[in-house]
Amino acid sequence: MPYLEELSHWDDFAISAVLDPGVRCAATRGFFYVDPHGHAYPCAYTKGKAPPVDMLGDDWRSAVGRETPCTRCSVGPYLEFNLLYQKPVRTALSVVRSYF
Ligand code: SF4
Repeated sequence: MPYLEELSHWDDFAISAVLDPGVRCAATRGFFYVDPHGHAYPCAYTKGKAPPVDMLGDDWRSAVGRETPCTRCSVGPYLEFNLLYQKPVRTALSVVRSYF
């Protein structure tokens, strides 16, 4: 299972995200987090680490494709999202296999 494989290579669980220049996070390109005030961040864990885009006042397009403060993380759902973008077929097949 790609998710568990990825976690088995994570060096230090005291650190949940790192900036790895060789890896690109899908946040801002495939998904982003919008808080209840309409502020968009790459993901929920980057609130306070990345400047927000006001989805109600700014051009929402400025939230898309921005650089992220980190590129690899061990944060459960976001790791899974990134795996879906990096290895879509393998990740989807592993999910299907887990149900049968
Ligand atoms: S690496 Fe993880 S924590 Fe960092 S921006 Fe991407 S999804 Fe968010």
